[in-house]
Amino acid sequence: MLPEDVLLKAQAELLDYESTGMSIMEMSHRSAYFDEVIESAKMRLRRLMSIPSTHEVMFLHGGATTQFYALAEQFNSSGVAAYINTGQWSSKAIKAASTYGGGVDVIGTTEDENFCRAPTQDELTQQTDGYNYVHYTPNETIGGVRFPYVPDVSSPLVADFSSSILSEYIDVSKFDFIYAGAQKNIGPAGIVVVIASKAFLTRSKKAKNPIFDYCAQVKGDSRVNTPSTYSIYLANLVFEWLESQGGVAHISMLNQQKAKILYSLIDSSDYYHSPIDRDSRSWMNVPFQLHDNNLNKKFLEEADAARLYNLAGHRSVGGMRASIYNAMPLDGVIALTEFMTEFARQNG
Ligand SMILES: *Cc1c(COP(=O)(O)O)cnc(C)c1O
Repeated sequence: MLPEDVLLKAQAELLDYESTGMSIMEMSHRSAYFDEVIESAKMRLRRLMSIPSTHEVMFLHGGATTQFYALAEQFNSSGVAAYINTGQWSSKAIKAASTYGGGVDVIGTTEDENFCRAPTQDELTQQTDGYNYVHYTPNETIGGVRFPYVPDVSSPLVADFSSSILSEYIDVSKFDFIYAGAQKNIGPAGIVVVIASKAFLTRSKKAKNPIFDYCAQVKGDSRVNTPSTYSIYLANLVFEWLESQGGVAHISMLNQQKAKILYSLIDSSDYYHSPIDRDSRSWMNVPFQLHDNNLNKKFLEEADAARLYNLAGHRSVGGMRASIYNAMPLDGVIALTEFMTEFARQNG
């Protein structure tokens, strides 16, 4: 979802941006107008996440998947990187990185428990120094698994925050590299946000393709070639909206409240079931099962009719999954729980 205020503002400015008679989509990515947009987006993100001046901010192409490879190409060209595997997105990141340099070591996983939780700090390999970096996925979007802690490791920490960036406070200074496809929790598809420490960037090996080269992109202000200008413009509006809502502190409180309402209903009923351990439950993606899988189709059809969309679980896991990202209002979650209660009553 995108916040309605953001869509309305984009609509109002669509044909005529700041009385220029042009749409922002029609402007050069090197125009003064777009300079202002990208600068504003960066500043707002810095404020929202309290990004220290030790870190660079980039808005790049290719989504999170491109980062799986670009990261490994530039930081794992020799030696080994460590990965924590908590589900499908970490597995994909591992697969991508394993073809570079000396490959990867998996230093923690709950695969044998069907990824029903994040591994604890004690369960991770204790010796983590000497790696190029340690990569993990703070929120596994498909499985609905959230790390309740930031791993304490002795090599640079890298995280794929695609589905939970800006949903809760994080101490950016603990991370050397953060990336997040914007289409999940920021809203617009087409860009990936990268936050990298300057110290970490000095260790990078030049990428073959300059569009993927982090140092070139820092130097070129995310405009080595034409970036996805409209997505950056929309991201800036989302950041503006988030600030007007009280920033990450407020949205995080709201997110916890939203998640709590939904998990409470699931836990208090025999009709629905959550496959994820309590401590590792995502605030963003809530997978759940009906007590009888034969009712899945009916549930989804009736949910659609009630204007509750995108509730089918990922094709690989089945069941249901409610994604309740930042822009999902509390009312949306309440509407879902009312629907679920009524569905259980009628089909009990
Ligand atoms: C969606 C997602 C990805 C892949 O994103 P793309 O931008 O489509 O490449 C990677 N990691 C996580 C955690 C995701 O949720």
